[in-house]
Amino acid sequence: LTDIANHDDAGVVAANLIEAISAPVLIDGQTMSVSPSIGISLFPDDGPDGDTILKNADTAMYHAKSAGRNNHQFYTARMNEAAGERLQMENELRQAVSSISPSNCEFSLNFQPQIETVSGRVLGLEALLRWNNPKLGLISPARFIAIAEETGLIQPLGDWVIWETCRQIRNMKQCGIKGIRVAINISAQQVRHDNLVLLVRGALACYDLSPDDIELEVTESTAMQHPETTLSILDQLSAMGIKLAIDDFGTGYSSLAYLKHLPIQRLKLDRSFVTDIETDPNDAAICAATIALGHSLGLELVAEGVETEAQRDFLARLGCDMLQGYLYSKPMPFDETIAYLKAYQASHT
Ligand code: C2E
Ligand code: CA
Ligand code: CA
Repeated sequence: LTDIANHDDAGVVAANLIEAISAPVLIDGQTMSVSPSIGISLFPDDGPDGDTILKNADTAMYHAKSAGRNNHQFYTARMNEAAGERLQMENELRQAVSSISPSNCEFSLNFQPQIETVSGRVLGLEALLRWNNPKLGLISPARFIAIAEETGLIQPLGDWVIWETCRQIRNMKQCGIKGIRVAINISAQQVRHDNLVLLVRGALACYDLSPDDIELEVTESTAMQHPETTLSILDQLSAMGIKLAIDDFGTGYSSLAYLKHLPIQRLKLDRSFVTDIETDPNDAAICAATIALGHSLGLELVAEGVETEAQRDFLARLGCDMLQGYLYSKPMPFDETIAYLKAYQASHT
């Protein structure tokens, strides 16, 4: 654009372009639409020559994509820093995954209790991955799991999570903890290979565990991708006697017809609905409908992110079976988990 008076003009042009391009088109009787992402950089502020301007516009476009598409972004120097940080994180992650060993490991698991609503009994734990890197510090899985998935590192890392969870369950049993099932989060890529079935079987056998000691959580969107392979693998796991849960339920676009065919026992109601359950009538309605729907399909409902007594009471009134959240406990390292479970057992016997 050679004829703009100020930055905002470029934004207006971008917005008009997006509107025009994203209009639905009819092809062979199907309505199709595209969601454009536009990056903008300005001469001379964002670069002294055409090449630099184009490269920076490209960077800005990737930000528009990761901001959910169908939007435009202006280039900022911070974007290059962010790209640099991401690259560094990717390199560190590669290094950390390739050097996993029993004596030296940057990864660990935390455990968060799952409580039966009516009795207040602790029936399960969810294993949550932690990464502590010497250079980058403690990094949230919300940030590094996505990178692990994009780079394929989730395969070896996910395998490690399964082995480590089983090892820790064996340790729990040795500490006298019984009847606690531990849920393991599984990524989309892991449910594309029969490997998963062999791995789970091997890890259970290696630590002398029964299928009832673990549960696997797959997200709603994972279950919806590659339905055929995913279904076949979930069926094999289920046939082994392993319980399966759909994580983040309500955030994807599950087809109910498909859900009915999955060999699942539990739905985990996403935290985003629980957070505003008392204040947002829509969220309350979604929770109520999901719980009723799940029950009518014979499934157990687990609510995530329960932080307040009011949320607990509300969910209890709706008949939600299990609760998990800071109200009961944050995810804890192994030793604290043992102390928590022992204190709980002592007060209930
Ligand atoms: P998720 O499976 O939905 O796990 C629940 C997340 O919510 C955890 O975050 C947990 O710490 C947090 N949380 C639990 N209760 C509360 C609460 O009351 N309030 C709030 N504000 N948050 C609560 P975390 O540990 O940071 O994990 C984030 C996500 O990373 C997980 O979401 C899961 O998708 C992924 N993740 C974690 N560990 C693994 C893993 O071993 N494998 C895979 N594939 N993904 C993992
Ligand atoms: Ca989960
Ligand atoms: Ca979740």
